[in-house]
Amino acid sequence: MGGWKAAPDAGLPGGGRCTHGDADAHLPPREGVAACDDCPEGARWVNLLRCLTCGHTGCCDSSPGKHAYAHAETGGHPLARSLRSGDTWAWCYEDQLFVVPDDGGHDD
Ligand SMILES: [Zn+2]
Ligand SMILES: [Zn+2]
Ligand SMILES: [Zn+2]
Repeated sequence: MGGWKAAPDAGLPGGGRCTHGDADAHLPPREGVAACDDCPEGARWVNLLRCLTCGHTGCCDSSPGKHAYAHAETGGHPLARSLRSGDTWAWCYEDQLFVVPDDGGHDD
Protein backbone atom coordinates (compact mmCIF):
# COMPACT_ATOMS: atom_id res chain seq x y z
CA MET A 1 0.00 0.00 0.00
CA GLY A 2 0.96 3.59 0.29
CA GLY A 3 -0.16 6.09 -2.26
CA TRP A 4 -0.49 9.82 -2.14
CA LYS A 5 -3.16 12.22 -1.00
CA ALA A 6 -3.57 15.95 -1.36
CA ALA A 7 -1.67 17.77 1.36
CA PRO A 8 -3.86 19.45 4.00
CA ASP A 9 -2.36 22.80 3.08
CA ALA A 10 -2.23 22.11 -0.61
CA GLY A 11 -2.70 25.79 -1.23
CA LEU A 12 -6.29 25.49 -2.35
CA PRO A 13 -9.11 27.07 -0.31
CA GLY A 14 -11.35 24.04 -0.20
CA GLY A 15 -8.54 21.58 0.10
CA GLY A 16 -7.51 19.84 -3.05
CA ARG A 17 -8.09 16.63 -4.80
CA CYS A 18 -5.56 14.60 -6.67
CA THR A 19 -6.68 11.64 -8.70
CA HIS A 20 -3.18 10.34 -9.28
CA GLY A 21 -2.52 9.18 -5.75
CA ASP A 22 -1.99 5.56 -6.63
CA ALA A 23 1.56 6.26 -7.74
CA ASP A 24 4.04 4.55 -5.48
CA ALA A 25 4.74 6.87 -2.57
CA HIS A 26 7.69 4.90 -1.44
CA LEU A 27 9.69 4.85 -4.59
CA PRO A 28 13.11 5.70 -3.24
CA PRO A 29 15.19 8.46 -4.73
CA ARG A 30 17.42 7.03 -7.40
CA GLU A 31 20.84 6.13 -6.09
CA GLY A 32 23.44 8.78 -6.51
CA VAL A 33 21.29 11.30 -8.33
CA ALA A 34 22.81 14.72 -7.98
CA ALA A 35 21.75 16.39 -11.17
CA CYS A 36 18.86 17.06 -13.48
CA ASP A 37 18.61 14.58 -16.36
CA ASP A 38 18.02 17.37 -18.86
CA CYS A 39 20.22 20.23 -17.73
CA PRO A 40 23.56 20.68 -19.43
CA GLU A 41 26.46 19.67 -17.25
CA GLY A 42 27.29 22.30 -14.68
CA ALA A 43 23.92 24.00 -14.93
CA ARG A 44 22.40 25.30 -11.72
CA TRP A 45 19.14 24.20 -10.27
CA VAL A 46 17.29 24.92 -7.04
CA ASN A 47 15.69 21.58 -6.29
CA LEU A 48 15.23 18.30 -8.10
CA LEU A 49 11.99 16.42 -8.63
CA ARG A 50 11.73 12.77 -9.50
CA CYS A 51 8.92 11.60 -11.73
CA LEU A 52 6.94 8.94 -9.91
CA THR A 53 5.85 7.35 -13.16
CA CYS A 54 9.17 6.70 -14.83
CA GLY A 55 11.91 7.89 -12.50
CA HIS A 56 13.01 10.86 -14.60
CA THR A 57 14.83 13.47 -12.55
CA GLY A 58 14.21 17.09 -13.45
CA CYS A 59 14.85 20.48 -11.93
CA CYS A 60 12.02 22.36 -10.19
CA ASP A 61 10.06 25.39 -11.34
CA SER A 62 12.37 27.70 -9.40
CA SER A 63 15.30 26.48 -11.48
CA PRO A 64 16.17 28.05 -14.83
CA GLY A 65 15.52 24.84 -16.76
CA LYS A 66 12.15 23.86 -15.22
CA HIS A 67 12.77 20.40 -16.60
CA ALA A 68 10.50 18.57 -14.17
CA TYR A 69 7.61 20.65 -15.48
CA ALA A 70 8.67 20.11 -19.08
CA HIS A 71 8.80 16.39 -18.45
CA ALA A 72 5.35 16.34 -16.84
CA GLU A 73 3.93 18.22 -19.81
CA THR A 74 5.50 16.20 -22.56
CA GLY A 75 5.44 12.84 -20.82
CA GLY A 76 2.00 13.18 -19.27
CA HIS A 77 3.41 12.08 -15.95
CA PRO A 78 1.66 14.19 -13.30
CA LEU A 79 3.45 13.39 -10.05
CA ALA A 80 7.02 14.20 -9.11
CA ARG A 81 8.50 14.03 -5.65
CA SER A 82 11.07 16.33 -4.14
CA LEU A 83 14.54 14.88 -3.85
CA ARG A 84 15.67 17.37 -1.24
CA SER A 85 16.65 15.43 1.83
CA GLY A 86 13.94 15.53 4.44
CA ASP A 87 11.21 16.43 1.96
CA THR A 88 8.32 14.00 1.75
CA TRP A 89 6.03 15.87 -0.61
CA ALA A 90 5.38 15.48 -4.28
CA TRP A 91 3.82 17.95 -6.69
CA CYS A 92 0.96 17.07 -9.00
CA TYR A 93 1.41 19.05 -12.20
CA GLU A 94 -2.03 18.18 -13.41
CA ASP A 95 -3.99 19.11 -10.29
CA GLN A 96 -1.53 21.83 -9.29
CA LEU A 97 -1.18 20.85 -5.69
CA PHE A 98 1.11 19.23 -3.20
CA VAL A 99 0.53 15.65 -2.21
CA VAL A 100 1.93 13.78 0.74
CA PRO A 101 2.30 10.07 1.41
CA ASP A 102 -0.97 8.47 2.42
CA ASP A 103 -0.31 5.70 4.85
CA GLY A 104 -3.99 5.16 5.41
CA GLY A 105 -5.87 5.07 8.66
CA HIS A 106 -7.05 8.63 9.03
CA ASP A 107 -8.73 9.72 5.87
CA ASP A 108 -10.81 12.84 6.12
ZN1 LIG B 1 -3.08 14.69 -9.41
ZN1 LIG C 1 17.01 20.81 -15.58
ZN1 LIG D 1 8.06 10.49 -16.16
